[in-house]
Amino acid sequence: MRTCTIVIPCKMASVSPEETVENDAMPRELAAESKLYVDVGVDYIPIVYRDEYNIHLLGLEKLHPFDACKWGNVIKNLKKKNLLKGLNLATPNEATEADLRLVHSASYLRSLKWSINVAKIIEVAPVALVPNIVLQKRVLKPFRYQVGGSVLAGKLAIERGWSINVGGGFHHCWGNKGGGFCAYADITLTVHFILNHYPHVERVMILDLDAHQGNGHERDFIGRKDIYILDMYNKYIYPNDTYAKGAISRKIELFAYTEDEEYLDRVNVHVEGALNEFSPHVVIYNAGTDILEGDCLGLLSITKQGIIERDEIVFQKVRQRSIPIVMLTSGGYQRVTAAVIADSIANLNKKSLIDMSSH
Ligand SMILES: [Zn+2]
Repeated sequence: MRTCTIVIPCKMASVSPEETVENDAMPRELAAESKLYVDVGVDYIPIVYRDEYNIHLLGLEKLHPFDACKWGNVIKNLKKKNLLKGLNLATPNEATEADLRLVHSASYLRSLKWSINVAKIIEVAPVALVPNIVLQKRVLKPFRYQVGGSVLAGKLAIERGWSINVGGGFHHCWGNKGGGFCAYADITLTVHFILNHYPHVERVMILDLDAHQGNGHERDFIGRKDIYILDMYNKYIYPNDTYAKGAISRKIELFAYTEDEEYLDRVNVHVEGALNEFSPHVVIYNAGTDILEGDCLGLLSITKQGIIERDEIVFQKVRQRSIPIVMLTSGGYQRVTAAVIADSIANLNKKSLIDMSSH
């Protein structure tokens, strides 16, 4: 049984409203030179991944309770099921400093040049002693590729109706601050790119079903009438960000150790209710799997089958309305998690809620 003894205790701290202001990023226009919206041919399926997503940090990743190669392990599990045979996955570019400045302040990005700040964000205390140049290459670069993956998945969802970024979903990071294993605000950036590239998209829904409150995108979008956030999370765990809760349109707070029957009933009722209430032009689905029983951070009791059914309910309700959906894998790093995500993707394909055949 794994322990969480090396998790830095600041996880229990909540954050104050003033940390959300003085963000000098968030410009109106995107950098013309951005390479995140690459063209992806129809012979590529809209599942986004590259090997650079995975973290190999001199063995230090083994100190962490997380599976730092979860993303690659999802692909391995999909291959085992013969689901990727003859198929090409979409490969993203790395988000550059210019891309990240669209949502992050210069001072925040500068703060990542100090290893102690990166150690706090990824919650591995010894990482504070690792030279920053190593962390840039082995930790932050993988995250930047995953950010590029989320942004590209946004484009693919609009073009194809659905997409899955095998990484991303860093929902605790906002313009001025990272935390909870989230160094870059990929959800905010993905929404930003969609709104700027597709004028017909005027309303965006974020369905955040990770076990934790998504305070990052909430702080970035607080007060925005064009962004509807449904957030369902364990109310007794990190981050308990009261200020950010003001951005949630539909808030569902769960008791610890909630089980499948109650959980799935709530997913059914509230995803349906949200879609009827808001009619979004695109849905960003933050599909964290830390709701899985045994996750020492999520503290919920959802079975593997419960996660598969949850994803099916979401895709079924969104796709039947012909709304494009972007799925991000977000939190959930138990050793068994990658197999659960692969099983869920296989189920979506089997139920024809996604189409993994090549064209
Ligand atoms: Zn989480």
